[in-house]
Amino acid sequence: MPVADYRTYCRMIDEARKNRFAYPAINVSSLTTANAVLKGLAESRSDGIIQVSTGGAAFASGSSVKDMVLGAISLAEHVHRVAARYPVHVALHTDHCQAQMLESFLVPLVQETERRRQAGLPNLFNSHMFDGSALSLKENLDIAVPLLERCHRSELILEVEAGVVGGEEDGVKTEGTPAEKLYTTPGDMLEVSRRLGVVQGARFLLAATFGNVHGVYKPGHVKLKPSILRDGQEAVEKEYGPDARFDLVFHGGSGSLLEEIHEAIDYGVVKMNIDTDTQYAFTRAIADHMFRNYDGVLKVDGEVGSKKQYDPRSYLSLAETAMAERVKVAAGALRATGRSLLALK
Ligand SMILES: [Zn+2]
Repeated sequence: MPVADYRTYCRMIDEARKNRFAYPAINVSSLTTANAVLKGLAESRSDGIIQVSTGGAAFASGSSVKDMVLGAISLAEHVHRVAARYPVHVALHTDHCQAQMLESFLVPLVQETERRRQAGLPNLFNSHMFDGSALSLKENLDIAVPLLERCHRSELILEVEAGVVGGEEDGVKTEGTPAEKLYTTPGDMLEVSRRLGVVQGARFLLAATFGNVHGVYKPGHVKLKPSILRDGQEAVEKEYGPDARFDLVFHGGSGSLLEEIHEAIDYGVVKMNIDTDTQYAFTRAIADHMFRNYDGVLKVDGEVGSKKQYDPRSYLSLAETAMAERVKVAAGALRATGRSLLALK
């Protein structure tokens, strides 16, 4: 299907919230990884989200250009063109954008959508994340409120973050963050609801943190407390009514236990970000190819190697399939398999 429009994306989120499942939101940085997500979603009959980080976008524009905006547009254009060939809905999203990157990444992409809409064309992305977690909550929301107003005018959904996701992603480290900041409090969630609720009719997603970290760690390192989400949702519902319950985003989903994922979904998570696990699946297949075909991918001892084996398509197609398989595992864990809106008709 063509990339979801605003109405479809809203329906996707509503459906997930109502039926207690969540969408895999997978980071991509190339045509091949984007195709892998589409393949995995289609084979799962699950709708989903393709997302691009600032670093992934810069990479996609080429190592001598390194233009985040250009790379993000290029990847999104690719998905707009090929998504139509897959029998599921997919939405396009941009990942963590810190306050200091707004003017160089998020805002130009919103402007691009504004231009496209004026020309009668579909939005470039469906949603964008503003990550103000390094700021005080007040400063964070002072930026988020006008940004949400602007996004809403163009039928864009804004994702905001309260609390800090631990670990490292895309070179941004949060080491040294005081432990309590890794857990969003009910008070924080009430404040987010009060401030963003002012923007009439606007939709937003909240990345509330409950001990999540980016990356994968050995067992015991991460103490997830999904009950944080339950407590925050209850506080918001008590104060502002059931409609005020958040659509939540689970960051650092890689390596999480199934029980933790399901508990988080039961408390309102509708989107789970996955990067590390799909990166590994992709690279694992390439490593396997290289080790098995050592004499083919390399020219050893004056030999000529095997063109079939060093043609990048040979191992990139294996990587595409392996990553798609990991996307299917994610869809299963998120209870999204077979839940495409298209299956409802
Ligand atoms: Zn994240």
